[in-house]
Amino acid sequence: MPKWENNVRKVVPYTPGEQPKIKNLIKLNTNENPYPPSPGVLAALRSLDADGLRRYPDPAASDLINAIASHCGVSCDRVFAGVGSDDVLAMSFLTFFASGREILFPDITYSFYDVWADLFRIPYEAQKLDGNFEIVNRDYYKENGGIIFPNPNAPTGVLKSLDSIRDLLEHNRDVVVIVDEAYIDFAQDAEEVEKGKHQVPPSSALNLIDEYENLLVVQTCSKSRSLAGMRIGYAVGSKKLIAYLNDAKYSFNSYTMNQAAIAAGCAAFEDEGWFRQCTSKIIRTRERVKKELSGLGFHFPDSSANFLFITHPSIPARELFARLRQEKILVRYFDRPRIDNYLRVTIGTDEEMDTMLTFLREGVDLT
Ligand SMILES: *Cc1c(COP(=O)(O)O)cnc(C)c1O
Repeated sequence: MPKWENNVRKVVPYTPGEQPKIKNLIKLNTNENPYPPSPGVLAALRSLDADGLRRYPDPAASDLINAIASHCGVSCDRVFAGVGSDDVLAMSFLTFFASGREILFPDITYSFYDVWADLFRIPYEAQKLDGNFEIVNRDYYKENGGIIFPNPNAPTGVLKSLDSIRDLLEHNRDVVVIVDEAYIDFAQDAEEVEKGKHQVPPSSALNLIDEYENLLVVQTCSKSRSLAGMRIGYAVGSKKLIAYLNDAKYSFNSYTMNQAAIAAGCAAFEDEGWFRQCTSKIIRTRERVKKELSGLGFHFPDSSANFLFITHPSIPARELFARLRQEKILVRYFDRPRIDNYLRVTIGTDEEMDTMLTFLREGVDLT
């Protein structure tokens, strides 16, 4: 190895889900939304001023921040936006996990957390989920440098109750606690979503941010707002937390949000009706697919997200993954301890799910 290589910061990178260019693929591997974004998004992109692209975007992305703030029912100084929640989360690791003490997160969780921790040289200790894939709160009562977990968790879909999150916060007043709510919009009753009963999902930790200055809630437009391709994520918390995040951002890259992303994001938040319709449809499809898969002998934790984490006693997950792939149905397989006999299946359209279910019923021996 040449000497200069000793000076390189080496990391084992995160592996994103595949984006293959196969025709007629049923793509259920990266939890994308099967429905397009609001028509208003395309209209906003079409009416972008080409000449305006000569200019830098608004470094504060104020229009987008306004739209998010009003959606979440908070003031603008409590919202931070970034290039997908991955960017927001990475910035949050850098900003809030600087104590040198071990941060805590579940052993089965979003596999980017340990990558960011390694990248930023943050020590961490993964805490084992119990046999039902639930977070064991008492593992988080010890001294630590911060806590992060997704809710609902990924890739299990398991939702932690607001009471249980409150308990974690009560035991962790001296560190920053981050709740990664990439899937929280799906953790609701379909009918209530359709009727627009709640502005903020009742199980969202957004309901706790006024009580805990050290609580940061991170959400994204990638899943429930069908904008994975636009890269828009955001964090909501106390003014202090958001000010610290902005200090880090402006020390790194002032122009994270480009003009197109700002326009698209604003349009997405303007069209609540579209959002409610697509989200409730996905929740209904999920509940139906749960019943069908149970009938076929599959087991899975009860998911509150737009995916199911399934296992079957008669066929190894790895084999089923390959069989589905031959049928041009792509799902996600994680070759990791404790979950290597599970497949994570994104909820697609009803037609896509029916194609998968028909194959499982007729093309695979599940007896
Ligand atoms: C998808 C996902 C994200 C990141 O999504 P972005 O597209 O970067 O907003 C963050 N956390 C979890 C748990 C996710 O599944």
